[in-house]
Amino acid sequence: MSVINRLKSLPRGHKIALGLLNAAMAVLIMMPTEPAVASRDRPVLPPSQPVRDTRQPLELDVEDGPVIDDHRPVRELLVKVRRGDTLSSIFARQGLPSALLHEISQLGAHAESLQKIHPGERLTFSFDQKGRFAGLSYPLDAARTLDIRQSGAELRSRIISVTLEHRIQYAQASVSSNFWGAGVSAGLSPGQIMSLAAMFAWDLDFGLDIRAGDRFAVLYEQRYKDGILVDTGHILAAEFINQGKIYRAVRHDDGNYYSPEGRAMRKSFLRAPVNFSHISSNFNPRRLHPVTGQVKPHRGIDYAARTGTPVVAAGSGVVVESGYNRFNGNYVVIRHDRTYLTKYLHLHQRRVKKGEKVKQEQQIGTVGATGRVTGPHLHYEFLVNGVHKDPKSVDLPQAAFLSRGELDRFRPKADKLLAQLSKVSEVMLANH
Ligand SMILES: [Zn+2]
Repeated sequence: MSVINRLKSLPRGHKIALGLLNAAMAVLIMMPTEPAVASRDRPVLPPSQPVRDTRQPLELDVEDGPVIDDHRPVRELLVKVRRGDTLSSIFARQGLPSALLHEISQLGAHAESLQKIHPGERLTFSFDQKGRFAGLSYPLDAARTLDIRQSGAELRSRIISVTLEHRIQYAQASVSSNFWGAGVSAGLSPGQIMSLAAMFAWDLDFGLDIRAGDRFAVLYEQRYKDGILVDTGHILAAEFINQGKIYRAVRHDDGNYYSPEGRAMRKSFLRAPVNFSHISSNFNPRRLHPVTGQVKPHRGIDYAARTGTPVVAAGSGVVVESGYNRFNGNYVVIRHDRTYLTKYLHLHQRRVKKGEKVKQEQQIGTVGATGRVTGPHLHYEFLVNGVHKDPKSVDLPQAAFLSRGELDRFRPKADKLLAQLSKVSEVMLANH
């Protein structure tokens, strides 16, 4: 059974939402340096009737008879938070009384979350039959909702929590044209595709080393509330087969990923100092030198990417050079220890100074076209004891193991997840 089949069984609205999300991400990926574009929000409901603050003494309506629960909500107003909104701008827009806003602000810790509302979130106001405020509810996350109720003359607030049901889902695909497309066809969200690449970023160069025929299988968690999917969680385990070589990783409860034996996936050096989603030469095993135009393994690796694409330190170390010359353009050199040195050439901008300490994955500059080049790209060199090496094949320092006690906790869970993962993987192979 494929993820596509699961998608087909989703309600139509979900599919459209997923489609839109994928389309939106595709646009974002194509324009990596553009700011994220949020769609302009329209009010979900037509503008409401102006609401008066009628919590003051009212003219008694004799026809109502004895009032038992006169704040029983009879009308709800759903307000979607727009960009730049604050609680007070929403109150003003909806014609809600500022006295009520003040009262809510006096509710203490519970109401503090209302000071940090975000675009796209929803507030539900309810009103009684006389149009008086009866309550306000605001989902804090998938499991918790802030609930404010009018109770007689005063406001009461509480957090309503529900238990979410966790289900394990799987996704799988084989790469036909590129990794991103394979991730989308497997039904993974853009965030999950990025996470999958990040899990293996110390073993695999997703920009240059992914080939048609590579395969992956992923187990991840989804959380449901009353049978409805509310949240997609972390990848729990994944397998990636790249050019015939198998890589596996399992998430431990410390939030990090480990190999089935308990060795950290995080290692001293990233395989690539540029995120794969920015690399424009995904499938170009015959890399031409940008100047000589020859298929000649020169002393580094070239990553073609747009000017301005972030370049990160492949490993932690100290910047020993940050400068400019007419061949290298703007360049940065990092010494990691006595043995390892990395160089980053043709940068558009340098973000670090000589002598500065840098951490792995810290941005040190941006891709550019400075120096002797014909187009924007990063030229990356990896030196071991002063000798240029291919960072993809060179032996690198071994990653740390989980401690004995941690390993004892990790192994049973990992074995279970990996057994599930191999079932998925076998099915995939059978259908291949
Ligand atoms: Zn080069």
